[in-house]
Amino acid sequence: MKIIMLGAPGAGKGTQAKQIAAKYNIPHVSTGDIFRANIKEGTALGMEAKSYMDKGQLVPDELTVKILLDRVAKDDCKNGYVLDGFPRTIPQAEVLDEAVTKLSEKIDYAINVDVPDENIIRRMSGRRACVKCGATYHIVNVPPKKEGICDACGEALIVRDDDKEETVKARLATYHEQTQPLIDYYSAKGILKEVDGTKDMNDVFADIVAILG
Ligand code: ADP
Ligand code: ADP
Ligand code: ZN
Repeated sequence: MKIIMLGAPGAGKGTQAKQIAAKYNIPHVSTGDIFRANIKEGTALGMEAKSYMDKGQLVPDELTVKILLDRVAKDDCKNGYVLDGFPRTIPQAEVLDEAVTKLSEKIDYAINVDVPDENIIRRMSGRRACVKCGATYHIVNVPPKKEGICDACGEALIVRDDDKEETVKARLATYHEQTQPLIDYYSAKGILKEVDGTKDMNDVFADIVAILG
């Protein structure tokens, strides 16, 4: 099964994608996580990506597409994957379609996690992330057992550099301009599914499972 998660920054794509990955036994592929891992290791790719991420802008398609195609070509993606944060532009979606079609395969579902902008700003200020294992928490909604420490791996949690309010506003503007058009793109292909992302995260997941079967 090949699934794409759509939604504004902070809509809960990552939270849901991790649960989907666990239940359906497919890898969770997050371009944002790949960039952050590169930033942490100080690679050239990480440096370049960071210059865009810190401004709330998208990393250029050319760079992002290459990384994504390399990732989904790996063996563990043979039986499918859940993409979180890719595609974010129409050209990215077209490249993905082309790559999947070349293998005589298809994307099964594009799930749009719908959350209005005003909820997003509130959510992001409470987000805490583990850069070591990719786990995500929220100081009120999903607190770790021990404050500031990842339950899964013991690493210190961070506030992402791009979760500051000004940057979140810039990311929302980028989203509306460049990523939201993908909703119509996948709707036209007949694979778009909408879920209400303002619900409790377990209810959102139940709605997704009802769609995926
Ligand atoms: P969120 O889950 O909050 O939307 P992500 O971790 O997916 O954030 O992405 C963080 C940042 O990484 C984005 O704001 C953007 O700068 C960059 N990024 C991630 N995925 C892509 C992509 N597919 N295309 C371009 N930039 C991307
Ligand atoms: P995205 O990957 O779309 O940027 P995340 O999955 O990282 O979003 O979620 C953003 C923040 O909101 C995190 O702190 C997360 O714990 C929290 N969160 C996720 N889903 C919900 C929900 N349904 N209700 C309340 N908070 C949520
Ligand atoms: Zn961790």
